[in-house]
Amino acid sequence: MAKEYVNIRNIKFMLHEVLDLKALNSLPKFQDYDAEAYDMAIDAIKDIGDNHLFPIFTEMDKKKAYYDENEEVVKVHPGLQKAIKALGEGGWIGAYADYDLGGQQMPNLLLNSGRVIMHAANANAAAYTLLTDGASNLIRAFATKELHDEYVPKMMAGDWQGTMCLTEPQAGSSLSDVTTSATPNEDGSFNIKGQKIYISGGDYETTENIVHLTLARIDGAPAGTKGISLFVVPKYRKEAAQLVSNDVVTAGLYGKMGQKGYVAAHLMMGESEDCKGFLVGKPHNGLRYMFQMMNEARIGTGAMAAGTVSAAYHASLQYANERPQGRHPSNKDASQPQVLIIEHADVRRMLLFQKAIGEGSIALVQLCSLYSDLAENATGEAKENAHLLLELLTPVVKSFPSEWGNIAVSAGMQVLGGAGYTDDFPLEQYYRDIRVNAIYEGTTTIHGMDILGRKVMLQNGKALKLLMLEMKETIAKAQAVDGMQSYAAKLEDAAKTLHGTTLHLIDVARKHKPEVFLSDATLYLEFFGIVLVSWLWLKQGVVAQTAIANKAMGDDYLFYQGKVHTMKYYFEYELPKIQALRDRLLSGDKLTVDIESAFIN
Ligand SMILES: Cc1cc2nc3c(=O)[nH]c(=O)nc-3n(C[C@H](O)[C@H](O)[C@H](O)COP(=O)(O)OP(=O)(O)OC[C@H]3O[C@@H](n4cnc5c(N)ncnc54)[C@H](O)[C@@H]3O)c2cc1C
Repeated sequence: MAKEYVNIRNIKFMLHEVLDLKALNSLPKFQDYDAEAYDMAIDAIKDIGDNHLFPIFTEMDKKKAYYDENEEVVKVHPGLQKAIKALGEGGWIGAYADYDLGGQQMPNLLLNSGRVIMHAANANAAAYTLLTDGASNLIRAFATKELHDEYVPKMMAGDWQGTMCLTEPQAGSSLSDVTTSATPNEDGSFNIKGQKIYISGGDYETTENIVHLTLARIDGAPAGTKGISLFVVPKYRKEAAQLVSNDVVTAGLYGKMGQKGYVAAHLMMGESEDCKGFLVGKPHNGLRYMFQMMNEARIGTGAMAAGTVSAAYHASLQYANERPQGRHPSNKDASQPQVLIIEHADVRRMLLFQKAIGEGSIALVQLCSLYSDLAENATGEAKENAHLLLELLTPVVKSFPSEWGNIAVSAGMQVLGGAGYTDDFPLEQYYRDIRVNAIYEGTTTIHGMDILGRKVMLQNGKALKLLMLEMKETIAKAQAVDGMQSYAAKLEDAAKTLHGTTLHLIDVARKHKPEVFLSDATLYLEFFGIVLVSWLWLKQGVVAQTAIANKAMGDDYLFYQGKVHTMKYYFEYELPKIQALRDRLLSGDKLTVDIESAFIN
């Protein structure tokens, strides 16, 4: 078992030294959160990670969740409920909610920093609370007080599970095709009928109840997204102060490649015509409401992937510091002792790659969380700008940690050689676990089409202009720090390339049909993400280089040197990848659009 899974110093570095929290700290909602409160919360979640999450990480995989046909219940690891309760009692479910609603008024910035830690400790367990949190926030925001009071306190305590029930067999990426039906009853409830597939946290025996936030179509509703409504559909509904079965039946669990301790269920609702749903908000506005949960979950998925990369990095780092193998190329003398593999340049490359992707992803999650706090709580221009930046970056915060995380964890496995492929070490589990992050909460393709087809053009490209201004500010700071000037110049070039390529693609959108414009949207998202994260690395590098110049000592000195070198790695090894992507995006050929499907068959 690896000894460590996350670098708390890094999380605090971002919170206290890199991100500009002036605007956040001036908001009345968060007035109790000074630097000390941030540190206490971070230390508290690390304790929960150490005591409740990390110890059962491997076991949750080995003794995976399963459907017990005799008892007709879903069995999960016995430690799961204790872990969920610890997170509930620690205030980490519904933490953003106001005090008078039982929350902590915790900034999303702090909550998602905590999520990185809990997911690094054990994403299989922490993910359950991510959904309960999002579902309770959705009820709080849009449902009646009665629904809130009936469901949310139990969810926040960790006693009841929340889910998001969107996907159906014919409606995955295309939610406009949802067909689950909702037939009104005289008492104001609805009879729900349909199937929901891949529902995470969808059923397990150790939770007292499960609250499915479900998309369904009221009889006679218009086709498409404008006819979708949102319902609370509990596993057990209250009748005469008793909880009775609500006809939500588990048809089976999916045999997943990874995250095997985290249930994904196929649910049948209303097979016996006795499934009641309770409308949230107004009819036909369901998808709009659900976007709140989806957008939160997208940052959460980024945090989950970033946490997994962090844990895999630490496990491979530990191995690299313990495993002797081979000698330096200049020393062929077999009578000399072998060196530790961390001495080999290529192993260092793989470690730096993981660190660059992991800490770059954490920085991105934290930045987007800060924007979400400002978008919801600031006023005037600050609010509008944060909202636009968050809209623009949501596809990236979900996709960058997930896609690059896959490659980073693979590099982590490679560091271990043969041992990485065996289940004596956790790398093979991290490798399987992280794969799904690029699929759920919208595939990377869907986010590519979102950023290129919609987000960069919001308000005539205002969000992109705001981002360019933010980058300019960092570039100006870097130009004034010895040793950072060449990296400032590289980011300036990259930002120009991003801007120019985006303008070119918008011109393509004017001249060609959407199929052509959007055909390489996934590659555009990749290109955008690499540039964005190079900005976040320059921000960190400037702070670290300044601290070194100011004579940082001891562990601090090592930490800051690590930051500067990882920044250099990112600029020298990763940023150049945008050249090939730019060439592809500027190319006029429409190979993937014009080719006949028959030629691929
Ligand atoms: C383990 C797991 C847990 C999940 N948990 C939940 C959950 O809790 N709740 C929930 O509601 N759902 C959940 N999902 C479902 C998940 O959100 C969907 O699997 C995902 O959105 C993709 O839908 P799909 O599987 O139907 O794939 P499809 O939509 O069929 O996509 C297949 C491929 O086609 C591509 N594609 C689809 N449409 C387009 C298009 N218009 N243009 C270009 N390419 C396209 C996709 O990018 C993908 O590569 C989960 C899935 C998994 C695997």
